[in-house]
Formats: sequence, structure tokens, C-alpha cells
Amino acid sequence: MKLALIATPHTHPTCPPLGPAILSAYLQKKMPYIKVSVFDLSLNYYLSSFDKIKEGIFSFRLYKWDEKTTARNLEQAVSFFKSWHPNHRSLKEYHHWATIFLSFENIFNAFMAEMARKALVGQSIPKRIETFFEDLIQPVLAARPDLVGFSILYQQQVVFAALLAKLIKKRMKVKIVAGGAKISVMIAPEKLLTTPLVQENEDAPEILLKEVFDYLISGEGELALYYLCQAENSADLANVPNLIYFNGNNLRINPLAIAETDILPYPDFSDFKLENYLTPEPVLPIMTSRGCPWRKCTFCTHHHSYLGYRTRRIEDCVAEIKFLQKQYGCSLFYFYDEMISPLRFKKLAGQIIDEGLMIHYGAYAKPVKKFSPDLCKLIQRSGCRVLQWGVEAASQRILDLMCKGTDIQEVEKVLIHATQAGMYNLIFILFGFPSETTEELQQSLTFVDRNRENIHALCAGTFVLTEGSQIHMEPEKFFIRQIQEPIKSPILYPVLDYDVSQGMTTKETREHFNANQKFLNGIPLSRRLGTYREHLLIYGARHNAAKRNEKIIGYLPITPEIKQTTSLSIIRNLNT
Ligand code: SF4
Repeated sequence: MKLALIATPHTHPTCPPLGPAILSAYLQKKMPYIKVSVFDLSLNYYLSSFDKIKEGIFSFRLYKWDEKTTARNLEQAVSFFKSWHPNHRSLKEYHHWATIFLSFENIFNAFMAEMARKALVGQSIPKRIETFFEDLIQPVLAARPDLVGFSILYQQQVVFAALLAKLIKKRMKVKIVAGGAKISVMIAPEKLLTTPLVQENEDAPEILLKEVFDYLISGEGELALYYLCQAENSADLANVPNLIYFNGNNLRINPLAIAETDILPYPDFSDFKLENYLTPEPVLPIMTSRGCPWRKCTFCTHHHSYLGYRTRRIEDCVAEIKFLQKQYGCSLFYFYDEMISPLRFKKLAGQIIDEGLMIHYGAYAKPVKKFSPDLCKLIQRSGCRVLQWGVEAASQRILDLMCKGTDIQEVEKVLIHATQAGMYNLIFILFGFPSETTEELQQSLTFVDRNRENIHALCAGTFVLTEGSQIHMEPEKFFIRQIQEPIKSPILYPVLDYDVSQGMTTKETREHFNANQKFLNGIPLSRRLGTYREHLLIYGARHNAAKRNEKIIGYLPITPEIKQTTSLSIIRNLNT
């Protein structure tokens, strides 16, 4: 039995994927007689794109540059990411190259997603792009797997997973299963198998994803894949937890089950070439718990990926860090826990210090009073350099409506404590929560302005109504009059539009948000550090502490031409 696990294009190529690494380790331990191979096709997608742009096979243009200038700048941006040392190269320079890379990601990935969608439904695409997708699956085909599993974390990966699955099936007889956070948070994941991909053009062909995915796994993958690998016939599938599949014409949705977190082995990153990720040194992901201890935020569905909240023993987590450090020579880590509570953080930081680990790390947390000056100092002493805080808004009414469980005055204090302890704060801000008024939005802007010295990275966006969130389930409690079903394919473009009975409309929110971009850009060290968070950790860990509060004065040499992104001409260019 051979199993291929695939990290699907595309996620930022700055860190190896954690999910497939954990699954691989678990399945190898439980079934030493099977061969598990992991492929980061997201990283391969990027590396191959860089080569093709450099070689002129993809004639890609950014801004008002010609192809050669674009290729040269992209190559330099990649090289900068891989060699950046914050003490030798300025943040201004970082921001410059990160802006170019982000523009490349936004435009290239949107175009490739459109190509993938067309290829998926059988419409013609340029030969060189067809070849690009065919080349991506070659390592998987070479492994001759009996079962292929796609890990899908984000919406944008669905179309790529479906196309690559289709291409694999064209070349070999194999069963394909798709799972991951994206599928796990859907309230009706079976829709992926049962709803045709509707095209904008009525005459365009349709496809049902059950033609490419034999099974879906909703929820955690360990037990499901274990039993699926052992299933010898279709009758056995009934015993595979979390599995969604068709038995003949009948759709089957099996009950959910989870593996004990404390018996999970440490993730296996040995199939990844860590030196190929776009960081000067590897940053490894780690998880000490599954789910969220709070689980109440009314806009959130993240925690739905897991059944409840489960923690691993702190001693075991620290032993894992030790193991990873030794195995991969890595000293930078990102904790992917939905959030670490103050009490657990205290134990974790204490244990890291007691064990004498020399590491730096980042983590997610909720800004509550218990993050006192002493606790922040302890956390910093244990190596934490970046804390990512769900601040979300500055109006207490909105925070209460979100059920964040935070007090905005305490939030400010926590940011100060963390900064004074020597850590960087990345904050998340959400504009336009249903019923938010312009005054309340302004409160968030004022909050950000007032705390600019303690906000080092910023992830700001407008509210998006997510299927399965409490707001979606009980819209009337959030002043939502009506929710409109997506006009385009609900599978590929599942954004829900809505009308509110009070507060700003979504259009007004976007206008305010866009109008304040310049202001928001001036708050953090670099806005790009909110996107490429591994780089923020590297900056926090490696930058001379004496300069820790350096801010960018003005922005990069972005010339006016960089701002005028001519995406249409770029797409035309690639499309020929
Ligand atoms: S937003 Fe964060 S804290 Fe709130 S429920 Fe979701 S994961 Fe938990």
C-alpha cells in the first residue's frame, strides 16, 4: 500500500505544511508496512513558476515593467527572502521586495486559478500552462500511490486540488481523497461532491467534483486515513470515520471520530526540502492543542475543524521542539494553536526555560488581562518574539457582539506589556462587523493610531460572512436582514452577501477601508510582515534588540508605476 499526501497549491511558500507532516508520522507509526510520501505541490508550484518566468516560458509582467524586468525583479525578491538578515538589510528594502513578491502572488495566482478552473471543466488553456500543471503531478505519479490525499486549507486551493486530482486520475487508476481545514469547516461538505461547478456562461460545461474526488474527509484526518488505508472493499468504507462518499448512487456521511492528541507522534518533515522555502532559515510549525478553548466568537469557524478543545501535555510539546531542533537544525517555530491561554502559556514558557531550549517562536493569543507584565516577560524569556492578537475592533459594543470576551482597555495594556517585554505584536482588525457604524469604525482607527508604538504588524480586513458561523446561523441577532446566496458557483466562490438593518453597508465599509489604506500602511513596521509572518518572526528573533522599535520612515522606492498594476495586460500576456 502506497499513500501520497499532497499540500495543495497555493499557500505562501514560507513554511512547510504541518497537517500532512503530522498525518505522515501518524500513519507510518500505525502502519509501518505502508509507504507514505508527502509532496508539497504548493512549494513546487511556486518554484516551477519562478523558473518558467525566468526562462521566458511564461511571459509575465508586473506593473509597467517588461517581461525581462519583471523576471529579474521576481528573482531578486525570492533571493532577498532567502538571504535576508535584518541587521544587514533594512526594513525599507524588505518592504520593497515583499511588495513585489505579493503583487506577483496576487496576480499570478488569480490568473492560474482561472486557468485551473477552465482546465477542470474541459475548456482549452494555453499549452504551456497545461504542461505546467501536468509537470506538477509527475513526482506523485512516479511514487505509484494506491491512494492520494489532498490537504485543502483555504478556499483558493479547491480548484487546484480538483484539477490536479483530475490529471492524476487521467494518468493512473487511483482513489483520491480530499480533506483539511477548508472541508472541515463547511456546514455541508458533501456539497463539494453533489453540487455542480456552475459556470458564469450558461453554455460552458459543468463538472461534479465526485468525478475527481472519491472521498472527502471532514474533520481530523488521522483515524479516517488509517481506516481508509485498511479498507479492502466498499463495505469496509462504512467503518471509516469522518468519511463522505458515494456508495453507488447513495451518499454516505460517516460519524465523526478523533485520535487522542497525546499519542500523536511528532510531525515528519523529512519529505520537505526546508532550504527551498522563502526564508533565510527554516521556520517549523508546531501545535500544542487542537481547537480553541474559547470557541465563542460569533464570526469564527476555525475551531469547527476540530471536535472540541484538546491539549497535549506540555512536557510532550517541549520534547517535540527538542526533537525538531535536533532533527532539522531549526531554532525558529510558529505555534499554530488557535490560541494559547495565559495559564497554558505560563506552563509552556516555564517548561521551555527549564529545559534550557534556545529557540525563538511566535504564537496566537487573545488579549486578556492575565497577560500581565510578569507573564509577558516570562514568555519573552522563553524565546517568544511575536504574539498575534485577535483585537478585531475597538468598540466595546462590537467586541461584545462578536463575543470576543475581551475588554478594550485591557487590550491596550496587554499590547504595552508585550512590547515592554521585548516582543512584537501582530494585531488582527476587522472593519465593518454587521451593524458597525462609521463612528465605531473610526474608534478602531483611533485605537490603532493611539497604540502605533505597540503595533508592529497589522492584519486588517473587512468583515466577511462565513458559512457556519453563529452570525450566519442567527443573522437576525446581528442586525442582518437578508443573506443572499452566491450568484456564482457556491463551491468555487462561496462569499455570502447580506443587508443590514443598521450600521454601514458592506459597500460603505469597503469605501472607508480603502480610504484609510495609507494610514494603515503607516502603522506597522511593514504591512507585508502581516502577510509573511515567518518573516516577522525572523525580524523579531534576529534583529538587533537595541533597534527593536525601529519603524519604517516612509515607504520603499515604490515608484508610481508599481502602484498602477495593469493586471489585464498581464493576463493577456500569459494567456497567449
Ligand atoms: S476567533 Fe480565535 S478565539 Fe475566537 S473562537 Fe475563533 S479561534 Fe477561538
